[in-house]
Amino acid sequence: MAMTNELLRYFRAKEKERASETAAATQCPFCSVQCTLQLVEERIVERRRYKAVPTDNPTSNGRLCLKGMNAHQHALHPERLLVPLAKVDGRFVRVGWEEALSLIAERIISIQKEDGVDAFAVYGGGSLTNEEAYLLGKFARVALKTRHIDYNGRFCMSAAAAAMNDAFGLDRGLTNPLSDIPLAQTIILAGTNVAECQPTLMPYFYEAKKNGAFIIVVDPRETKTAALADLHLPLKPGTDAALAVGIGKVLLDEGYIDEAFVRERTVGFAEWKQHIEAVEMDEIVRLTDVPEEKIRLAARKYGEAADAIVLTARGLEQQTDGYAAVRQWINVVLATGNIGRPGSGFGSITGQGNGQGGREHGQKADQLPGYRSIEHPQHRRYIASVWGVAPDELPRKGVSAYEMMQKIGAGEITGLLVMGSNPVVSSPNAAFVAKAMQKLKFLVVADMFLSETAELADLVLPVSSYLEDEGTVTNVEGRVCFRPAARKRPGEVKHDWEILCAIAHKLGKGRFFPFTSAEEIFNELRLASRGGKADYYGVTYERLRRERVYWPCPDAHHPGTPRLFTERFAHPDGKARFAVLPFRPEKEETDEWYPFYLTTGRVLAHYLSGTQTRRSPALSARQPEAVVEIHPRTAKRYGIGPGMLVHIETRRGAAVVRSRYNDQIREDTIFVPFHWSGLGQINNVTSDELDPHCRMPAFKRCAARVRPVVDLGRN
Ligand code: SF4
Repeated sequence: MAMTNELLRYFRAKEKERASETAAATQCPFCSVQCTLQLVEERIVERRRYKAVPTDNPTSNGRLCLKGMNAHQHALHPERLLVPLAKVDGRFVRVGWEEALSLIAERIISIQKEDGVDAFAVYGGGSLTNEEAYLLGKFARVALKTRHIDYNGRFCMSAAAAAMNDAFGLDRGLTNPLSDIPLAQTIILAGTNVAECQPTLMPYFYEAKKNGAFIIVVDPRETKTAALADLHLPLKPGTDAALAVGIGKVLLDEGYIDEAFVRERTVGFAEWKQHIEAVEMDEIVRLTDVPEEKIRLAARKYGEAADAIVLTARGLEQQTDGYAAVRQWINVVLATGNIGRPGSGFGSITGQGNGQGGREHGQKADQLPGYRSIEHPQHRRYIASVWGVAPDELPRKGVSAYEMMQKIGAGEITGLLVMGSNPVVSSPNAAFVAKAMQKLKFLVVADMFLSETAELADLVLPVSSYLEDEGTVTNVEGRVCFRPAARKRPGEVKHDWEILCAIAHKLGKGRFFPFTSAEEIFNELRLASRGGKADYYGVTYERLRRERVYWPCPDAHHPGTPRLFTERFAHPDGKARFAVLPFRPEKEETDEWYPFYLTTGRVLAHYLSGTQTRRSPALSARQPEAVVEIHPRTAKRYGIGPGMLVHIETRRGAAVVRSRYNDQIREDTIFVPFHWSGLGQINNVTSDELDPHCRMPAFKRCAARVRPVVDLGRN
């Protein structure tokens, strides 16, 4: 009898154990929507099972896409780095943190002594939290005193950010809250594939459509987003600026100008009008290859709408004239007065998880926190006072991300710290970048995995994942969001901010980096941003635990600013600027040797260089390798069958990927996603020409040729 009771107790306990589960709140680390979720851990005797359960918030409204559902798979992956690794005789060996930190400090000191203070550079990322992005900027300027810091957001938001700053006096991804989208009567999505890049935003557009909105998609491919459109404009890659000029011309010719708005709230209309009047529609049609009647229909639908929204993204921004293209669309917005009202606005949809906050707090070559300028005397004085240094001690502006790689190649930068980025895969002309990196005297990479960049490092530092790292990010709407830590850190992993503080201490700069929590860093960030364009002063952790707050938010009682420019723009005179800029693309052209336009982008299952998503079994199974989307007629002309390996060559090199027929892509264009390394690494062949205004590379257009590769396994 006693034995039976004991057995019963045992089995009941086991049952309880089997049923036990814990749930912790977190936020998807990938795109700029920042969907919230609970990571549920089920313990089934000795096994553990995880699942992501979406939770509600006013941005994603309880939605989660494929990537968010499976994000934990990389964070829990057995390949996570758990200890610092130093390269000895070409192989990585385990070292202790103390040894690693001492080595970094020693190499920084010797490199700066031998080659100058600017010879040590810092390369950050748009997925770092606000606190880490802020601290990285401070670390470069205060601990290293180097002018060379930039980040992968240069490849993401630089064109739109520069254009919005110049046009509006302020750059925030969206001028309106997402909840304004269903209020618009016409929506133009120019170079943005929301359905694959920010899937949980799609219901905003479905709702708009249900409300009768007319949706126009501008893209060389009929993407999943274009499938939603009432009108698809499949322009020739790289001609977005010309298309926007054409739309502006129709608006002007057919009387859709909001003269009162233009008079009261803008500067430069007369010059723009004169410029546009001289443009011939035939030229626009020739350049863009979009029929005139479609351009006119798009312009009329936009001009007639009582409220309308234009949203752009990397499709038009990652060009040598990305800045000009965004300014041309902003001209259209200003000419019709479609901004500053519910349902009327402009936006550039951020790509990276913290693409917004990452660009506001100082990891960009020319910026100080709060969107201040590193060349502005008053801004320098203010930030120097917050940091407790003399303004003259702050370095001047450095160069952009790719230009840093060129300086590495030229031997001017000889030491580099990479944090939260994988430039060997994500840079344009990446084969050059990989070679350049090998010239460094010292490369230290902080990452969760042995990424392609980390493989080249002298020292690799293991960092925490989104599940372990508490902090804030600023989402696509300009809303500051708090992400709690959901799990303990594994192994000897440190947070990025802890690493920066520890190196600063080793360099004798510890008094500037006394932080013991992300919240302490955020509180200094609030102060540093105070009075700046991106003013976070009124945002606190205590508040963020209850709500997501739109910046600017200058004090604790301020409600935040969901909709910008309702009364005035952010230039000192309160007026927005029209721009007169060239719109005829001077870009790498096709010819008889390289007859196709190669364009690149994202796919639903992957994120950036794929370091994380390629390690997620569910995401990797969804799309295990790069493919080239090619029109079947084009493919057949070159003897390329579906699923065949294709050799893609540009003036810089070659990549090999499998073909995927797509009869919704232009016959003169091929598309390859950029998430893979190795043979399928398309950034090995993309163009490193840079936009003169913002130094954005021309990822979205270069000339290419294709031929089939004999594939014994498939053909
Ligand atoms: Fe949400 Fe973006 Fe993550 Fe998908 S990838 S779950 S849309 S944050």
